[in-house]
Amino acid sequence: MMKENQKKSGICRRDFIGNSLAAVAGLGIRGKNNLCNGKARTLSREPRIKEYRTLGRTGFKVSDIGFGASFLTVPELLKVALDRGINYIDTGEHYSNGQSERTIGQVIRNQDRKSIFITTKLNLTFAQSRTKENVKQRFQKCLERLQTDYVDCLMIHMARDTEQIKHPAFHEAARELKAEGRIRYIGLSNHGPEFRIYGRLQVPMEQVVYAAVEDGRFDVVLIAYNFLQRKQGEKILKKCQEKNVGITLMKTDPVNVYSRVLESVEKEKKAGAPTSEEYMKRLEDYATWLKAADKFIMTYGLKTNEQVREAAIKFVLSQPGVHSACLSITTFEKLETFVALSGEKLRGRDHEMLEDYEGWLGPYYCRHACGLCEPACPDTVPINTIMRYNHYFQAQGREKYSMRKYAALPGADAGQCNTCAGYCKHSCPYGVHIQKLLALAHNTLTLA
Ligand code: SF4
Ligand code: SF4
Repeated sequence: MMKENQKKSGICRRDFIGNSLAAVAGLGIRGKNNLCNGKARTLSREPRIKEYRTLGRTGFKVSDIGFGASFLTVPELLKVALDRGINYIDTGEHYSNGQSERTIGQVIRNQDRKSIFITTKLNLTFAQSRTKENVKQRFQKCLERLQTDYVDCLMIHMARDTEQIKHPAFHEAARELKAEGRIRYIGLSNHGPEFRIYGRLQVPMEQVVYAAVEDGRFDVVLIAYNFLQRKQGEKILKKCQEKNVGITLMKTDPVNVYSRVLESVEKEKKAGAPTSEEYMKRLEDYATWLKAADKFIMTYGLKTNEQVREAAIKFVLSQPGVHSACLSITTFEKLETFVALSGEKLRGRDHEMLEDYEGWLGPYYCRHACGLCEPACPDTVPINTIMRYNHYFQAQGREKYSMRKYAALPGADAGQCNTCAGYCKHSCPYGVHIQKLLALAHNTLTLA
């Protein structure tokens, strides 16, 4: 019966998971219809940006779909995006080792600079951040890579606590850079705690953003927000709206974090990964997860997981106060899909679908920028950070990057979770299956 229904819906669980994997792991980057193999594709349709929103007190009208450029290395992709009407570009000093900024520079030097809003970021935990001169020197290199005289917004990258938003060297440098006309506004990004330092929990995203809004010097924020963590996001949006702070978003698509479970499990078995009783029991638990995926696919007659992804993006675009969703655009296909969503709102059965997704598959997604469960772990495992690294691996296809990050964790990792008594079991308000996800994450992030 299930197979019959799947035939009708046009997709089986395995395909759904496979599609998810292809879509989110960036198979398009390596596929034949994209720019990264050097073949600029002619698109059959030409969607354009339909909605521009005023970015808070900056007064700049930005496209509701922004260009998240962390992986950008191919100029043609950005050129087409600008042609389609995208005018908000989000980059950072170290994205793709500076190649993101260099690529943007190659494109914007031939464009009407005033029509584009560019945000770049500096990570103030890096060594050269102590003095105003350090900050200005690093920012000057950003300008050189971007081949422009100014950026519209300079952000503190992943502002990690309320102290960092007062960073004296950053603010002194920003004041001078503004006076020199090299930046127009400042902002910050935050996607939650990075890891515990000396056993101390880091500050949750909302506290950092609230402090920045109260500080009064920050004009724009970039935060993690999606339909699975609406409550936290709604509070932040409201706070920012009160002070007319511009709001841009990342991590808007939480769909398919579970996409590689089957593959991971099979890979682990082949690699002779743990065969303890506890571990084998956990593998059985994953079957429950996959059944939930089956139910979801059949109920909504899904042909591709893009339907859920698109609803997820429409959800954030429908939220009052959101100005631009910075989506990671790595292929022409993604560009086409995302631009077509401009001006769209969540409607009809989309609401129901997202609610059911949350009910059935929400327990398999660790919310970004959370960490509420972490005090329950006696070994101070940085649960939220490890889940995020796993998200990079599973959902974004950044395999080597996430494995490197995991190996470099300064304290405990999830190695002991597989055999632990599970003290964290009931500590997640969203019902996330912490232990089994951590056990899987550890195996995924350490497989050679
Ligand atoms: S498991 Fe739950 S409580 Fe823990 S960080 Fe993730 S979402 Fe938050
Ligand atoms: S399973 Fe045990 S070691 Fe792992 S996070 Fe939970 S309490 Fe900590």
